[in-house]
Amino acid sequence: MPRPIEALIHPDALSHNIGRARDFAPDARVWAVVKANAYGHGIERCFDALRAADGFALLDFAEAERLRALDWRGPILLLEGCFEPRDLELCSRLNLWHVVHQPQQIDWLAAHKTHTPHRVFLKMNSGMNRLGFKPDAFRAAWARLNVLPQVEEISLITHFSDADADRFGHNGIEHQLATWLATTHDLPGERSLANSAATLRHLANAGARSDWVRAGIMSYGSAPDFPEHDIAHWNLRPAMTLRSQIIGIQELQPGDSVGYGSSFVAEQAMRVGTVACGYADGYPRHCGTGTPILVDGVRTRTIGRVSMDMLAVDLGPVPAAQVGSAVTLWGHGPRGSVLAIDEVARAAGTIGYELMCAVAPRVPVRVLGDGETP
Ligand SMILES: *Cc1c(COP(=O)(O)O)cnc(C)c1O
Repeated sequence: MPRPIEALIHPDALSHNIGRARDFAPDARVWAVVKANAYGHGIERCFDALRAADGFALLDFAEAERLRALDWRGPILLLEGCFEPRDLELCSRLNLWHVVHQPQQIDWLAAHKTHTPHRVFLKMNSGMNRLGFKPDAFRAAWARLNVLPQVEEISLITHFSDADADRFGHNGIEHQLATWLATTHDLPGERSLANSAATLRHLANAGARSDWVRAGIMSYGSAPDFPEHDIAHWNLRPAMTLRSQIIGIQELQPGDSVGYGSSFVAEQAMRVGTVACGYADGYPRHCGTGTPILVDGVRTRTIGRVSMDMLAVDLGPVPAAQVGSAVTLWGHGPRGSVLAIDEVARAAGTIGYELMCAVAPRVPVRVLGDGETP
């Protein structure tokens, strides 16, 4: 038998979560953001479920080609646009919409020979200060694009830095939204403003036109504003389960330690399970004693240091556990149990995004079949 660790992808969770984006943005179309190989889930594995969205957003040309190879004929948006002039040929050939966020990209377009004019999303730097034209340069960029025969349609896009929380004690998108509205109010074209956090927290009250939302992390069943809100609050479902089994059991006496560095010392006699999952599988080594984990669907805690191939769990809450018992590192466990990836991420001082993108190549991944339960 292969080592018992595996990752499961849940298509029903993906479609449910896209439905949640629609609930929060009923008048907008939804891009499923599938950059980084669908946040580590695998574009091909998610495709059937995510095609319930209206388009796909990503930033890697090879990933765009993979979507076209799956026969996706609908919209694909390149969130970072072109990196060099030659990329425009791929945009023409694959019919890709692309973000224009810096002046050279307009020069390249102006020099590009194409029979089919492009749809571009002109990006404003409304305060994130990562990509985009500052407000005072934005309208001039729009005017330049507007006279190019290579451009068929100009849409407008911006990105919020603090949609998931307050900023300096104020609503996190207020300052950028004001800049955005002041600069774009009289420009024509469709608008895209919201990532997952902005879609869930702000869209209903923003008072801004929003034609396309960009549903990334919420599609995969992680709460963008954890721990303020969790997936239960937003009614999102984990799209990935990382699971393994107990492969060994140790009985500790008071004073016994567990694992490298003896960072955990038993205060009383206890049973400990050794799990076939370690940092070489993508489970964060930063998760210290106390990180939540499910054994046979029962919540318990990790103890000691995570090693390359193994970690240890406290079997106190699960006295019936044995070698072969099911261990859920995150996602869906037996009998309807759930452990949000956000909780594990928090224990490691990071966010769900990083964990789902970092599941290691050695972990086999399987799409859960119809009617199959974890
Ligand atoms: C990644 C990305 C998104 C998706 O963000 P989530 O927080 O995952 O919803 C949206 N917009 C842009 C520009 C991005 O790069």
